Amino acid sequence: MKREAYLYTMHEGTTVRCNTCQRRCVIPEGGRGWCGTRVNEGGRLFSLIYGEVSSISINPIEKKPVFHFFPGSRWLSLGSVGCNFRCPGCQNGDIAHWKEGHMATEFLSPEDAVSRATERVCLGISWTFNEPALWFEYTLDSAKIAKEQGLFTNYVTNGYLTEEALDMLAPSLDVFRVDIKGFSDRTYSRIGHIRNFAAILATTEKAKKLGMHVEVVTNVIPGYNDDEYELRDLAAWIKASLGPGTPWHVTRFHPHHELAHLPATPIATLERVRNLGKEARLWYVYLGNVPGHRWENTWCHECGELLIERFIFDVLSNKISGNRCPVCKAVIPGTFG
Ligand code: SF4
Repeated sequence: MKREAYLYTMHEGTTVRCNTCQRRCVIPEGGRGWCGTRVNEGGRLFSLIYGEVSSISINPIEKKPVFHFFPGSRWLSLGSVGCNFRCPGCQNGDIAHWKEGHMATEFLSPEDAVSRATERVCLGISWTFNEPALWFEYTLDSAKIAKEQGLFTNYVTNGYLTEEALDMLAPSLDVFRVDIKGFSDRTYSRIGHIRNFAAILATTEKAKKLGMHVEVVTNVIPGYNDDEYELRDLAAWIKASLGPGTPWHVTRFHPHHELAHLPATPIATLERVRNLGKEARLWYVYLGNVPGHRWENTWCHECGELLIERFIFDVLSNKISGNRCPVCKAVIPGTFG
């Protein structure tokens, strides 16, 4: 459904500037933004994907992955179409690299999305599968209603939304699960076709300052973003800017889309990256997409006790009580119910 955009300014004449994501597209009358989902009609900017759902499912929050916010809870996951990146190995390329008419969507109003979550006994709603800022207006409206109904909310994001967009979301957004794909403009220009990756860091720092629960994911792609110096810098930045208790998920790339010719990430590479994180004094560095690996589990950062045992997305046991380790009583960062 078409809905007037919430964040745009007049540029020159009937040309407008979209302020939803950091591309800040300048769009002439009749034109569309880089993502293809926003159109300038007569000097007014419209989103074409308000409420247009391409994917809907109910999953444990571990699937996002988020490990330190109500482990094992059920969440409604919703996605639309389009993206402001063009990652060559995108696991959701069919919806993210969308072209109009190539994929059917179904309208779901914010009220119906919230009802769907409460009827299915979900703890919250995640906007995921494609970049949630693309349907910013819808996620914002839905998040406000979700909070009124006592649900939690989660953005699974590439972090490239503007600070203005984040400010508007902040009162209604609990979790900011951000992909940080590398730590240089060179890596980001190869992976996401953007040049100023520092904007992602600034927005993520702001999410943290605004009180959101932040977890970081880096999908390590052989030959693309597995440079150890860069990953060391990323780990150091997480500790300095987000805090040592910020979970960092280092996940295994599986050949896909335009990168189908690459091998899957060697597990030894992921283990080395985890070590870099630990050397940077991050407390919780997880391996993802490696079922049964011991670093899927949560181990107390103080005494090393096994606190949460996982297998892929399932929580097999959870010993955390009142946010504390039962052995040494250390406070475990996050919200554990
Ligand atoms: S959401 Fe981003 S990519 Fe899309 S029109 Fe707006 S600024 Fe451009």
